[in-house]
Amino acid sequence: MSTFSLDPGPDQLAVRDWLHGFAADVMRPAAAEWDEREETPWPIIQEAAKLGIYSLDFYAQQYFDPSGVGIPIAMEELFWGDAGLGLAIVGTTLAAVAVLANGTDEQIGTWAPQMFGTPDDVKLAAFCSSEPDAGSDVSALRTRAVYQEATDEWVLNGTKTWATNGGIAHVHVVVATVDPALGARGQASFIVPPGTPGLAQGQKFKKHGIRASHTAEVVLDGVRVPGHCLLGGKEKLDERLARARERAAGGGAARSGAAGTGKNAAMATFEASRPAVGAQAIGIARAAYEVALDYAMTREQFGRPIIDNQGVAFQLADMKTRIDAARLLVWRASWMAANNQPFTAAEGSMSKLYAGETAKWVTSQAMQILGGNGFTREYPVERMHRDSAIYTIFEGTSEIQRLVIARAISGLPIR
Ligand SMILES: Cc1cc2nc3c(=O)[nH]c(=O)nc-3n(C[C@H](O)[C@H](O)[C@H](O)COP(=O)(O)OP(=O)(O)OC[C@H]3O[C@@H](n4cnc5c(N)ncnc54)[C@H](O)[C@@H]3O)c2cc1C
Repeated sequence: MSTFSLDPGPDQLAVRDWLHGFAADVMRPAAAEWDEREETPWPIIQEAAKLGIYSLDFYAQQYFDPSGVGIPIAMEELFWGDAGLGLAIVGTTLAAVAVLANGTDEQIGTWAPQMFGTPDDVKLAAFCSSEPDAGSDVSALRTRAVYQEATDEWVLNGTKTWATNGGIAHVHVVVATVDPALGARGQASFIVPPGTPGLAQGQKFKKHGIRASHTAEVVLDGVRVPGHCLLGGKEKLDERLARARERAAGGGAARSGAAGTGKNAAMATFEASRPAVGAQAIGIARAAYEVALDYAMTREQFGRPIIDNQGVAFQLADMKTRIDAARLLVWRASWMAANNQPFTAAEGSMSKLYAGETAKWVTSQAMQILGGNGFTREYPVERMHRDSAIYTIFEGTSEIQRLVIARAISGLPIR
């Protein structure tokens, strides 16, 4: 086990500085343009791939760093650069984490590299769990996966929504129900390989923020995937289903969605990614705070910089304090995850909850400090505020994080 440390060490600091350079020199100047265009910023992703920032190797190195803070440091810097571009660059990792969390070594080796492609032929991946009638309640998924023994194939039917990179991804990871009677415990994740017939993009959403990141419906109409595309393999699934059926027969709770503590395919992915998502929110908050601090030092009213007023200075003091507190929660949760410490008080959820709420609050304070300028697209804080709003919604809303924490600390099935 590595000792928890607030000093990331020279390797992580070098990574941070390298990413900061990319965020400042490549992402910042392009951010407003791609926000307006609302298109996938392929040139930026390609540039990131050329530099090794969009690559499986890079994320694997950060993910397996024993300090646990490799991923949070990387996320914070990229999202300090810009959240829309940041998500366009790291959206693939959600699907990659699903494969890492649920796949066999062979599946990881086969599919994870294909999710990123190569610097000359960049690819994306999508993780498709949410559905029109199953958002917070992951146990309510309707997308069905039916096994056909004769051909050793799974047939997938259903509609997924809100999928980051949905429809434009090379590889899709789809969570589907194999036994609806078992709720979340009856679910499994499947790889849908590139070019599989029956998978199509539905509506692409026009969004309030993170507009450079592609979000769309994914329609699965008789999608056939080979047996080896079931993440974890059939034997493991059959064992898991048998255990769940036994529990259900014995009166145990079978349903347990995002709000629950039960282990299932989608939950395994969320658990591993929540602190990383919190770190993204911190990147946005820090960026807005820096703009606001700089503005408050230079903008003069009543013959003095506006920071000379305690009302403004105290706002900035609170912004900085909350950002640092959020980072401590994120680093703790990331260290715990990397060192296999159990999240007895839902520390992963705590970190995401606090960081998401902090980003929304800090960016709105930053707009206030910039006055009229804060309300215009001449300054970046209004974009940062729009971008921050997703951090209390995706990867589990703030309410769901509170539910998970409340259940963890009380041991009660709080609803
Ligand atoms: C831009 C974007 C990108 C996304 N990317 C992905 C992706 O890549 N893959 C993917 O699978 N999904 C993705 N999502 C989906 C996202 O995770 C869901 O939107 C989120 O989980 C909330 O689900 P919902 O929108 O259906 O809201 P609902 O679940 O309908 O919630 C509506 C409101 O009710 C509240 N609520 C619901 N249940 C409870 C409860 N028990 N107690 C208290 N309050 C409750 C919620 O907190 C929320 O405020 C994305 C969403 C967006 C907007």
